[in-house]
Amino acid sequence: MTRPTYAQIDCAALVHNYRYAKELTKTKAFAVLKADAYGHGAVTAARALQSVADGFAVACLEEAIELREAGIVQPILLLQGFFEVSELDLLETYNLWTVLHHKSQIELFLQAKIAPLKVFLKLDSGMHRLGLNPAEYRIAYEQLIASANCTEIVHMTHLARADELDCPATSAQLALFAEVTQGLSGACSMANSPAILAWPESHGQPKRGDWARPGFMLYGGLPLDRAHPAAEPLQPVMHLYSAITSIRELAAGEPIGYGARFICSRLTRVAVVAIGYGDGYPRHAKEGTPVWINGRICSLIGRVSMDMLTVDVSALADVSIGDRVELWGANLPINQVARACDTIAYELMTQITPRVPRLA
Ligand SMILES: *Cc1c(COP(=O)(O)O)cnc(C)c1O
Repeated sequence: MTRPTYAQIDCAALVHNYRYAKELTKTKAFAVLKADAYGHGAVTAARALQSVADGFAVACLEEAIELREAGIVQPILLLQGFFEVSELDLLETYNLWTVLHHKSQIELFLQAKIAPLKVFLKLDSGMHRLGLNPAEYRIAYEQLIASANCTEIVHMTHLARADELDCPATSAQLALFAEVTQGLSGACSMANSPAILAWPESHGQPKRGDWARPGFMLYGGLPLDRAHPAAEPLQPVMHLYSAITSIRELAAGEPIGYGARFICSRLTRVAVVAIGYGDGYPRHAKEGTPVWINGRICSLIGRVSMDMLTVDVSALADVSIGDRVELWGANLPINQVARACDTIAYELMTQITPRVPRLA
């Protein structure tokens, strides 16, 4: 490796965070590994978790096949189910569980000639993205129970606003879910990361065989709209590093980088760091986005370019070419960087490009 830019993936932290999620819910839990495990590397994450995880969840068949081909044997759930009927045979071949979220998908499922499968039937309890509406739900349940294609039904819903600690929508969604599924047999699956941390009523019942679905919290970020004691034990998994490749002093009035977006207001020592939007570091990062160098938080200045960015290191007593730079990780929580970039840490993680080696 010649370029000093890489993401260190702390698999022990990943396992710790998964165990912590289960400690909170007491139920089974799918480790959600969609989008290449939120940019961390799905196969790396699955291998790290395979001795502890009850199952994995991914967005689509391709992601599931990648895990099966890497030798992962745990249950795998397709969170959006199948997109075409031709995938149904592959569900059997690769031994996958599917979500059923729409009437048209259920019709295809009922008509297909397939080996019987376990399915997750999704209720739209208020997110209004995927899921059957309450009036359709029981009808679909009855049809599936009567079908030879279905061995078992798990009731599922997804929460739209569980990150908002003061918002009543989560309780309303959970109440509707409880009402619609009342009296129907089968396990339930409701909780995503924010719900696992902050909404115990979403956790379900271990005895019924319920499943939580932690994603983002496994990677150690804060999935809530403010700090919360339940999130404190989480440990960051991705530590994004680069190094200083050039240092110069610029007089007051001198511009930096493309478009001269930043003009020095005083004598400024500027470090160039070998990471840019070609690595997935956000180009829209604003002036003042934090960057950790030699024990201090410094400020990003000037536009992020494809392969590098510039940082004001005037405040550092001691700084040299080759010094390590942390873009986020143990010393700089990714949520702080996300806030400065007007985005969420989920997006920062998943956008790190393949050019950045993941070292586990
Ligand atoms: C992505 C996803 C999750 C995980 O959400 P996090 O907020 O990352 O924990 C859970 N359930 C479904 C249906 C998802 O799509």
